[in-house]
Amino acid sequence: MFIPKRVIFEKDSLDYEMGKSIYEKFKDSAETEIINLNSNKVKQHIPGEDLASRYREGKKTLVVGVKKSLKFQTCKPSANYQLPIVSGCIGQCEYCYLNTNLGDKPFTRVHVNLDEILRQAQDYIDERLPENTIFEGSATSDPVPVEPYTNSLRKTIEFFGRSKNGKFRFVTKYNDIDGLLNIEHNGNTEIRFTLNTDKVISEYENRTASRDSRIEASVKIAEAGYPIGFIIAPVFLYDNWKEEYRNLLLKLNKQMPNGLAQPIIFEVISHRYTTRAKNIILEVFPNTKLPMVDEERKFKYGQFGYGKYIYTKEQLDDMKEFFNNEIEAIFTNKIIKYII
Ligand code: SF4
Repeated sequence: MFIPKRVIFEKDSLDYEMGKSIYEKFKDSAETEIINLNSNKVKQHIPGEDLASRYREGKKTLVVGVKKSLKFQTCKPSANYQLPIVSGCIGQCEYCYLNTNLGDKPFTRVHVNLDEILRQAQDYIDERLPENTIFEGSATSDPVPVEPYTNSLRKTIEFFGRSKNGKFRFVTKYNDIDGLLNIEHNGNTEIRFTLNTDKVISEYENRTASRDSRIEASVKIAEAGYPIGFIIAPVFLYDNWKEEYRNLLLKLNKQMPNGLAQPIIFEVISHRYTTRAKNIILEVFPNTKLPMVDEERKFKYGQFGYGKYIYTKEQLDDMKEFFNNEIEAIFTNKIIKYII
């Protein structure tokens, strides 16, 4: 369970029930420093002389704040809108996309005005009627590790459980999900877990839940009747990768309950990186073993003027064939959404 080194309460956050309850949880803690701000100037309270030390301290920091702008970002193509209940993540995955997106704000920020956020979500749902509206809860975060302190996911799932045209989804690499069992979700929330081989998790996904803890958590979520999915990502093509990914899929299938009402959804994403991400990664993790040799990859131009380094066509064809065949052979009730 995540125990922050410091909790920073932004201006007005203690006026809300959630802010008060988080304060109560930490006020007598010997491990956690509490900082009360009269402003929202969080960054000056996170120590560190350079990007790497600021990153590490930021990752141990929980910020409790009020979400001011209630204009939600769009979230194409997987959802209509992002649902801003949490931003940031406590994990230190070396390849993480948040390193480039939230590089100067590596802390986790929870929003105490959840009722206002959900009211705004209702307005967006009403605007789009009779269409369904899908909200993504993990576009800029992993919301699960802070759930024991906020209950935000629980309340959000209950809200969507009562909704006729609103749907909710999020993805996680954590297992703090016990508070999400026994909720009237009515199938309106889809929970996905990102999985990888033991080797990838232990080498690159620092401070995340182990492979087995994630699988165990996903079994509980499936037994609780949620629509469930797995993102196998990022896939690395190292010596022995086929055997290790096959074992991962076999283990998952063995533990999943039989007779799920809905098919298991699979998304498979190969490792890729941009030059900008690579430069930040090398600064924050100077000893990283992430395979980022440009000459070994194919450069693919992106639509926004920057390109990324992906595996070669032959490697990707082989990977696609492998995952297609294995998932087809191992799982009976499943949908492969994409393999890229
Ligand atoms: Fe990034 Fe996800 Fe790892 Fe968190 S768990 S650091 S969001 S990749």
